[in-house]
Amino acid sequence: MQSAAIYQCPGCGARLSADRPLWRCDCGSHLDLVPGDGLARGDIVAGEASLWRYLAALRLRQSPLISLGEGWTPLVARRWAGAPVLFKLESQMPTGSFKDRGTAVMLNHLLEVGLGPIHEDSSGNAGSSIATYAAAAGLKCRIYVPEAAPRGKVVQIAASGAEVRAIPGTRQAVTEAALAAVAESFYASHNWQPFFIEGTKTLAYELWEQLGFSVPDNILVPTGYGSNILGLDRGFDELQRRGEIDRRPRLFAVQAENCAAFAAAWAAGASDYVPFTPAPTVADGIATVKPVRTAEVLSALRRSGGGVVGVPEAEIAPALAGLGRLGIFVEPTVATAAAAFTRLLQAGTILPEETTVVVLTGHGLKATDKVAELLQL
Ligand SMILES: [Zn+2]
Repeated sequence: MQSAAIYQCPGCGARLSADRPLWRCDCGSHLDLVPGDGLARGDIVAGEASLWRYLAALRLRQSPLISLGEGWTPLVARRWAGAPVLFKLESQMPTGSFKDRGTAVMLNHLLEVGLGPIHEDSSGNAGSSIATYAAAAGLKCRIYVPEAAPRGKVVQIAASGAEVRAIPGTRQAVTEAALAAVAESFYASHNWQPFFIEGTKTLAYELWEQLGFSVPDNILVPTGYGSNILGLDRGFDELQRRGEIDRRPRLFAVQAENCAAFAAAWAAGASDYVPFTPAPTVADGIATVKPVRTAEVLSALRRSGGGVVGVPEAEIAPALAGLGRLGIFVEPTVATAAAAFTRLLQAGTILPEETTVVVLTGHGLKATDKVAELLQL
């Protein structure tokens, strides 16, 4: 077993034992989880068809207390814009989105250290993931959602028995409501609690294993807060430190141009958050105005040699339609990644002969009303 897990605070430098439920440091900063030993291929539990095949690399004390079979999602080869591409179907998780990787690992950690009622804020997918796993664990749960959250996601949250609180106004207003409730229950925030990223790092392991223990040249990810970018960075870093890989893929964060915090900072050449004016977008799942770990995400993108792509609103529906014609049904947010792949090919940033993975983070069944509207069905 690994040594006990430790949090490090990037704000005040405090080191804290991860032996009780925490979502941030007393100084107000987010916390980071000090990396463990990482993974070598001999550590993989090959008979386990879920992310728990990588249990040896996770900073948990024991085998999972709850699991719904998350992880080990398909990697499907198709052609897009004249080039071969590998679609990673994170949409085929237990709750239909990539969030289950982070949720499963985060909640198992919190259960290990002792946990009562929880709450969370979400545009939909993280809320349905947390609510579903809370139900599986027998935990009381309350989810704050935007008033305009897609109905399918809100129904999914309510069906798990969680309390739904719809908040009017911006996505930021929903977060403020959740922050105001920290005295009532534990804020099991996927954007703050570091074990969520410990879970998303298994995406890196999985791609590496599914590609025959090699890494792709490029990975494109729809990005709101950046937990997949941070997870990929962490996972590939661990594999490199163990000598399992000798290079890292380029990571590209894909945003809707109308609401693109990382694109704004990237364009300004900044290393941290830059204020910008958001506009409405159909890509509700990545419409993040103020990411928690902006500097870390920008630094992970720069370290990888990748970048940020802002996708104009007009390109989202055609990409969604194109994916559907390939037999891939995703929510509108996710279609931005395919549209970004087209842009990167056209710009010559990505070459057709390179190995490119496009991560499809959420299922179309979560947003049928929006899909119907966009595709005029
Ligand atoms: Zn601190």
